[in-house]
Amino acid sequence: MQNNDDSKDGEKPLTAPLSRRSFVAAGSAGLATVALRGIASAQTPAPASDPPPAEKAAETVIPQYRPPVSDPGPINATLLKMNPSANNPPPTDHGDTGPIWYSFNLSHRREQPGGWTHQVTERSLPTSTDIAGVDMRLNTGAYRELHWHTAAEWSFMLYGNARISVLNPDGTVFLKDVSRGDLWYFPAGYPHSIQGLEPDGCEFLLIFDQGEFSEEDTFLLSDWVRHTPPDVLAKNMNLSPASVAKFPNHDLYIFPGKVPPSLATDKESVGGPAALSPTSFSFNMMGMKPAFSGPGGSAIVVDSRSFPVSKTVASALVTVHPGAMRELHWHPNASEWQFYISGQARMTVFITPSQARTMDYHEGDVGFVPLMAGHYIENTGNTDLVYLEIFRAPEFIDFSLNNWLRHLPPEMVSAHLNISADAIRRIPSQKNAVLI
Ligand code: MN
Ligand code: MN
Repeated sequence: MQNNDDSKDGEKPLTAPLSRRSFVAAGSAGLATVALRGIASAQTPAPASDPPPAEKAAETVIPQYRPPVSDPGPINATLLKMNPSANNPPPTDHGDTGPIWYSFNLSHRREQPGGWTHQVTERSLPTSTDIAGVDMRLNTGAYRELHWHTAAEWSFMLYGNARISVLNPDGTVFLKDVSRGDLWYFPAGYPHSIQGLEPDGCEFLLIFDQGEFSEEDTFLLSDWVRHTPPDVLAKNMNLSPASVAKFPNHDLYIFPGKVPPSLATDKESVGGPAALSPTSFSFNMMGMKPAFSGPGGSAIVVDSRSFPVSKTVASALVTVHPGAMRELHWHPNASEWQFYISGQARMTVFITPSQARTMDYHEGDVGFVPLMAGHYIENTGNTDLVYLEIFRAPEFIDFSLNNWLRHLPPEMVSAHLNISADAIRRIPSQKNAVLI
C-alpha cells in the first residue's frame, strides 16, 4: 500500500469521483439506445446499415435493466433488509463465486463458566481453506486454559485487557499485558495461555492459519493429564500419588480464576529477566503509523516486516470514512479473510470466468475474498467503517487497478477502455488504499 507513484507529470491525483449525475446520464443514454434498438428490430426489418462492430460488441455487455419481479412467497424480511445486495443484486453480478459472507452471530456460542467462544471456520465458510477465526470473551480473572495446537495463532484485541503467556523452546517465557488494538502471534505448537484482567476481562479475535481448524480441537493441559496413567505422571513430575489425584478430571478450557498480581511480580516469579523471552510475541497495531492515510480513510499494515514473529499472518486495519471506499484491488499472494469491527459495507468480489457477487457487511460479520479475486469495499453507512483484512502470508501485498492503469502507455489503456487520454489522466495515479 506504499505510494509507488513514479509518474513524472506532477499532476495532482484527482480524488473526487466522477459525479453520480454524469455516470447516471451516460448509463441512461446507453440503456435508452439499447432499448430503442430492441423496439426497432422487433417492429421493422433490420436497417440496411448495421451499427459498427465496436458498438455491437458494447451492446452485448451492457448490463440490461431488469424490472423488479414480485416475490409473493415467504421471505425472511430481517435477512433481506440486512443484505439488500444479495436479494436485489446489481445487474453486474453473475454466476457463483462461492460464499463470501458469514457471521459470528450465526455461529454456535460455547458458553463456559468465565467466558464464551464462537468460531467461523471452513465448516461454515467453505471457501476459506487458509484461515479460521474465533471470537472469544474472558471475564476478569478467567483463563483460556494452558494449551497448544497445530495451527499458528494470531489475535487482535477487540475489548478490555488480558495477560498472555507463551513459552519458547529454549525455556524462556513471554509474559505481557495487552489491550484494545494490540496483536499477538503464537507459532504452531508453542504452549500459551490468555487471562482476562480488570476491570471487565477481554474479548479478542483469534485467527488460525488453517481453514479447518477448530477451537474444540486443541491440546489442553487438563486433557493430557487425564489421559496419562497416574503413576507415570507422579514419576514424570516427581509428585506424590496424592498430588496427582488432585488433578482435574474434566477439561477446563475456559474457567474462572483470580486476578493475577502485577505483571512485574509475575515476571519476577518466573525467574526474572534471565527467564524472559528475548522475542516479542505481541504488537501494538493501533499505535502504528498508517501505511496509507488520506481524506477517505487509512490503513495500518502489520506483517512479518514490522512484527517479525508473525511469519504466516499479514494484516491491515482499514478505516473508511462515510462516502469513501477501499479502492478496486487484488492480492497476488493469499485469499483475504475479513472481520468487520464497526460500521457497514458493501463488497463485490470478481473471479474468473465472469463471476461476481455483491454482499453487505455489518459488525461481527466475516467477509471472504478468494486468492487473486478483484474487489472493493464501500462504506454504505453514516459512520466510519473499520475492518480487518487478514492473509495467510508473510507479507501484505496488493495491486491497485488505478495504479496499474496509470503506469501504462495511455494509448494502451485507451485501446482497452475506449476512453481519451484526458479521461485517463483523471484516474488517480497513486495507490490510494481508501478513495473518497
Ligand atoms: Mn490458542
Ligand atoms: Mn483486499
